[in-house]
Amino acid sequence: MAYISTQALVLRSVNWRENDRIITLLTPDRGRVEALVRGSRKPKSALMAASQLFTLGNYVLFKGKGHELVVSCEVKDSYYPLRGDYDKLSYASIILSSAEMAVQLEEPQPHLMILLIRTLTRLAYTDLDDRAVTSAYLLHFISLIGYKPRLAHCVSCSKEIKDGREGWLDPQAGGLLCKNCKNTHTTSMKLEPDAVMWLRSVLIQGIEKSLSLPRVIPLLQIKKYVEYVLDRQLPQLPEYISRL
Ligand SMILES: [Zn+2]
Repeated sequence: MAYISTQALVLRSVNWRENDRIITLLTPDRGRVEALVRGSRKPKSALMAASQLFTLGNYVLFKGKGHELVVSCEVKDSYYPLRGDYDKLSYASIILSSAEMAVQLEEPQPHLMILLIRTLTRLAYTDLDDRAVTSAYLLHFISLIGYKPRLAHCVSCSKEIKDGREGWLDPQAGGLLCKNCKNTHTTSMKLEPDAVMWLRSVLIQGIEKSLSLPRVIPLLQIKKYVEYVLDRQLPQLPEYISRL
C-alpha cells in the first residue's frame, strides 16, 4: 500500500453511491488512473473541486486494496471560463473525450499532458478562435498517438500537393489525397487550399505561429478523421457549427 503524489487532469467524472465520485485522471507518468473521491458530493467537501471535469491539480492518491483513493488535491487550475460558455464547454468536451478514449492504464503520457494543458489554457484564457484551437489540438493529438496525417504529398500516388491546391483528407489512407486519387477512396473529405496550408503550418509550427486562419476552419474534417482513427464518436460540435 502506498501514497502517490502526481500532477493530474480530470478527464471524466461519474457519480458513485450516495456522495462519492469516480474520476478518470490523466497523469504524466502513469497515463490513465481511475480513482474514487469519497464524499466529494457533500456540500462542504474539501475534495469537491478535485472531482470536477477539467480540474488540474497536484493529487495525492492512496493505492491499497480496492479502488485507488484521492486523499488530497491542490488545485492548480479549474479552467473556470470553460464552465459558463456552452460553445467552449462543447469544444473542451471533445478534447477531453478524445484523450480519455486513447489513454491506457499505466502508460506514461507526458506529451499529451502538456498538449492538453496548453489547449485548455488557450480555450479558457485567450482570444484564439475556439474552432482553430480544437482543430490544432486534434491534429497534434492523433500525431502523438501514432496517426500523424501526411499532408505534403498524396498518400496514394505520392505526387506533391502544392501550395494553392485543394486536397482530400482521408483517414483510411492516412492523410491527403490529390484530385486524381480522391475517387478511389470513400472516406475522403475535401479541404480548400487555404485549409490545407493552414493545417501544414499548424503541424510544423504550432497554432501560435501558424498562418492566418483559413476561410473555413477544417474542424469537421479533422474531427471525423479522429473519430475514424479511434473508431469512436466524439461529442457533438456546438449546434451552430454543425449547421454551417
Ligand atoms: Zn494522388
